[in-house]
Amino acid sequence: MNQPQERRVALVTGASRGIGRAIALGLAAAGFDLALNDIARQRAALGEVCAEAAAHGSATHAVTADVSRRKEVQAMVADTIAAMDRIDALVNNAGILIPSRVETLDEADWDAVMDVNAKGTFLVTQAVLPHMRARKYGRIVNIASIGGKHGAPEQAHYSASKAAVMGFTRVLAQEVGADGITANCLCPGIIVTDMGRTNLDDPETHAQWLRITALRRLGQPEDVAGPAVFLASDAAAFVTGQTLNVCGGIVLS
Ligand code: NAP
Repeated sequence: MNQPQERRVALVTGASRGIGRAIALGLAAAGFDLALNDIARQRAALGEVCAEAAAHGSATHAVTADVSRRKEVQAMVADTIAAMDRIDALVNNAGILIPSRVETLDEADWDAVMDVNAKGTFLVTQAVLPHMRARKYGRIVNIASIGGKHGAPEQAHYSASKAAVMGFTRVLAQEVGADGITANCLCPGIIVTDMGRTNLDDPETHAQWLRITALRRLGQPEDVAGPAVFLASDAAAFVTGQTLNVCGGIVLS
């Protein structure tokens, strides 16, 4: 397969820790240059991930923004293009989980989860699209969740937000394909991160997850990096509108 003439540039949101950090380092190891985003309060941690990626030989640019705020997103994309010249791949990874049962779910928490997970994916994608269309090239990788397919108690709003990401991606792929842009989703299972541990507080629940996972282990952030790098690469040129579970073979009846 032909290698690109120049190094590809990827923008990864929520990259200061967890799955976003692992994807950023996976992309760095695969030869991408990187613009790494997180919310302003994570500036220091984001700087550390940039340093780790630079050790792989990647040019890096840290850019803080709240992905749920249009103005910040537009400034982030403009700043990234000014600093890195282009955005070849976008990984919409930033996300939040605020557990609550439906009866007691605060309207503000519903809005916060939908704003970051669903609207954030839309806003960053919308800001990047004119640039990708002009260059007739783009790889968009949206991090949804198996929670968006099946869900678990206390995660109705999270599940709804991730189902929205999957629907958004399927239609996006149809709208942008003619301009050489692909859009796909990954659905991680239980991945051991600060967020993932929310699903593991109770030892019985922990054991149950292991029982229904074919590989009999929980996921590590690095487990999500390989599929994300693939979908962000030229190797995935004919893959679009798809949703891939990255869950160790969780069988939910
Ligand atoms: P994490 O450890 O909580 O990391 C998420 C990062 O995103 C944090 O640095 C967070 O900053 C940042 N962030 C939150 N709101 C943001 C915003 N508005 N703008 C920019 N950055 C923001 O989560 P993770 O487990 O790595 O999850 C990453 C993605 O994978 C999420 O979309 C999540 O829904 C998805 N996922 C995770 C799992 C799992 O088991 N871990 C499973 C399926 C899907 P703060 O912490 O300061 O808010």
